[in-house]
Amino acid sequence: MKKIIIAGNWKMNLLQAEVIQLMSGIVKHVKAQRLPNNLKIVCSPVYPYLQTAQSLIPEALKSSLQLAAQNCSEQNPGAFTGEVNPAMLKDVSCKYVIIGHSERRQYQKEDHQLLAAKTKNAIQSGLQVIFCCGEQLKERQQDQQFNIVQQQLEESIFDLHPDLLSKVAIAYEPVWAIGTGETATPEQANEMHQFIRELIHQNFSTEIADNTSILYGGSMKPANAEALLAQPDIDGGLIGGAALQVESFTGIIDIALQLKPTA
Ligand code: PEP
Repeated sequence: MKKIIIAGNWKMNLLQAEVIQLMSGIVKHVKAQRLPNNLKIVCSPVYPYLQTAQSLIPEALKSSLQLAAQNCSEQNPGAFTGEVNPAMLKDVSCKYVIIGHSERRQYQKEDHQLLAAKTKNAIQSGLQVIFCCGEQLKERQQDQQFNIVQQQLEESIFDLHPDLLSKVAIAYEPVWAIGTGETATPEQANEMHQFIRELIHQNFSTEIADNTSILYGGSMKPANAEALLAQPDIDGGLIGGAALQVESFTGIIDIALQLKPTA
């Protein structure tokens, strides 16, 4: 069954004591639920606190509550000062890595080719990838959103072997909705998710398209999560601001628990 993923992108926020507080609150909440096997909760502290966060996850929750890194290198071990490769992330119990976030595309100038190399390296090292795509405001105003998303996917992940694509969840994050308080309407988001699923169908197979988790990201919070997660092609969320507070993040988890098919 398709995975439903509620992932918090903590970005460059929180010192260690705050990581402990947030992670402990999430653990406490999740412990009290009966989480279905197909629901995955993912948290992404910065590199230095991955192990701290991991140490707070009890054994019984390890298949439901998992960690993502926010980036990884496309390189293997060697003379690459300041870089962290996916094998190292795996070694500290990371399950996922976020690749292609619009902030890295914008500030680190990460291009399609680099994102393709990072994705391949991460999967080959045993990580799962949350691959972000999404158009900028100007591109939507020019009705270019479908072309932009198609190009981002084609140039970075559609030449993966089908077995490797099954390790990728896609996060559709319209850039104009990230951190702005503006959200795509549920219909706008679902329309893009359907489009992405259709592209996977054309480039791979119906089975792969049906099994790929497509998350929405862009100012998701408890107040709008119900309408977004009720859409049939939205398989979870990548959440920034609202993932930094226990109540809002766990509020979204609870909505997913009510709305999404479980197994
Ligand atoms: C994000 O950065 O991936 C994100 C969706 O942020 P926010 O929820 O704050 O818009």
